[in-house]
Amino acid sequence: MADGRDRRRAALRAELAGQGLDALVVAGGANIRYLTGFTGSSGQLLIGPDRTVLVTDFRYASQAPGEVGAEVTVRVEKSSLWQGLRQTAQGMGVHRLGIDRGRVTLAEAEELRQLSGVELVPIGGLVERLRAAKDQTEVAAIREAAGLATDALEAIMGFIRPGRTEVEIAAELEAALRKRGSEWHPFQSIVASGPRSALPHARSTSRTVERGDWLVIDFGAQVDGYCSDITRTIVVGSKADERQKATYRVVQDAQARARGALRAGLTGREGDSLARDLIAKAGMGEAFGHSLGHGLGLEVHEEPRLSQTNEGLLPAGAVVTVEPGVYFEGWGGIRIEDDVVLSPDGAECLSDGRTDLVELT
Ligand code: ZN
Ligand code: ZN
Repeated sequence: MADGRDRRRAALRAELAGQGLDALVVAGGANIRYLTGFTGSSGQLLIGPDRTVLVTDFRYASQAPGEVGAEVTVRVEKSSLWQGLRQTAQGMGVHRLGIDRGRVTLAEAEELRQLSGVELVPIGGLVERLRAAKDQTEVAAIREAAGLATDALEAIMGFIRPGRTEVEIAAELEAALRKRGSEWHPFQSIVASGPRSALPHARSTSRTVERGDWLVIDFGAQVDGYCSDITRTIVVGSKADERQKATYRVVQDAQARARGALRAGLTGREGDSLARDLIAKAGMGEAFGHSLGHGLGLEVHEEPRLSQTNEGLLPAGAVVTVEPGVYFEGWGGIRIEDDVVLSPDGAECLSDGRTDLVELT
């Protein structure tokens, strides 16, 4: 199978066997999509030693079998998916059943506790760890999503000027993304202007962009389920002043350094430090309050993290964002974000990586 779903399920089964588990209840739409190709919103997946069963409802009765391929059995339930899942587990003769403690809710665990003679074993992040290392098809989809996002931003540059509101710019950008083929917006696009650019996760508001404002644009596209996530910070309506230029350069240099030195085999903390050390040396350490980046794939925030708390090794094939930022209340903020894929030799940029300061005059 070209998309590697068989290989993914085989890798997961090897993990399960290693942990003495008969089967795993896979929770979360992205995990289920990764292992089967199912794109619906309602489904439970049970992976056993030699069978994979997707339990879903009437709405997906014809869609699901087409998406999951011949190796996965689709079971359509009229009343309760959980009942279907329990019956399937019992039919497989499962004794030790893994459940994802990070994704299964208490109410869902109650449903599974009704299985008699089955020991529930909470485990964390098995599928997420597999997802962290992308194959070529996945990397190609993210690259396409990044290219599409860049094209969309370029197309609306002429629309951005003083007098426009943040939401007007966001709407124009989102329309451009959709017209170019983005399946959906992987997250709520951030268009934050002036002092509001100091809010790292600002929502776009009706604030009018003024001459000389910073404008932070954080957005992405989605192709075959895979996300891109890009941030550009520009000056609108005038040339940048000295403080803007100097501060921007610090973030730009930190981002370039991280992109130049990141590679598989570093820890997440070492990756984060590549940019953090430079920003701290410039006296702005306090203003860089978030981590350097996150994994990118079927979800916009996934494994691995580039952060001071991640001592895990970054795997080859990981796609991560590199997004240092500094934020000063009342003045504004700057964030520059590109997407890269890691190998033992370095990081290859999947987005355009064009970070020179843009002054839209
Ligand atoms: Zn972003
Ligand atoms: Zn991001």
